[in-house]
Amino acid sequence: AEARLLPGKTLQTFDFAAVPMVSKAHISAITAGDSWIGKGDNILLFGPPGVGKSHLASAIGLALVENGYRVLFARTTDLVQKLQQARRDLALEGAIAKLDKFHLLILDDIAYVTKDQAETSVLFELISARYERRSMLITANQAFGAWNTIFPDPAMTLAAVDRLVHHASIFELNVESYRRRAAEKAKGPG
Ligand code: ADP
Repeated sequence: AEARLLPGKTLQTFDFAAVPMVSKAHISAITAGDSWIGKGDNILLFGPPGVGKSHLASAIGLALVENGYRVLFARTTDLVQKLQQARRDLALEGAIAKLDKFHLLILDDIAYVTKDQAETSVLFELISARYERRSMLITANQAFGAWNTIFPDPAMTLAAVDRLVHHASIFELNVESYRRRAAEKAKGPG
């Protein structure tokens, strides 16, 4: 199956020193897979833009593929658009069921889903359908407090967050943008 991972973004090219709150050992345990994937547990990566969330997400996906798991990497807004089209075609249930073949569904940049896209909240249906059965790895540049922009109403936001965090490993990458740091290092002092 086509995993659509980001080319070149591997654990080997990921600089763990840049994110001291993420231990290489913990990520290695995660990429072994068996302790959480079978149970449908989730991983949530939070942090501002440029801190390596997409890189780490794709790298974890690649390591899992190498360990025999089926993984799909998707920009959340793209997937939401596809599911909305499926809903218009009265085929939403089938489209969500098709995603069951992936042990791990990576939803990159969930906070870019707009209120407009959320109107009929296919995203909520996806999260509910996978709950406790199939894992998700979600990246977001906003903490849960700001997720009311993703789901149509506060009750749905609460229910979605509740399902996601129930069995989740949460990483908060609260560091400075990797690229900005690299640029500053290149410039040198003064
Ligand atoms: P985010 O998803 O948090 O916005 P990205 O994963 O897109 O950030 O990272 C931005 C760029 O910086 C990418 O090219 C990525 O490979 C690189 N990058 C970020 N963090 C790291 C890191 N810790 N090690 C190596 N490259 C990194």
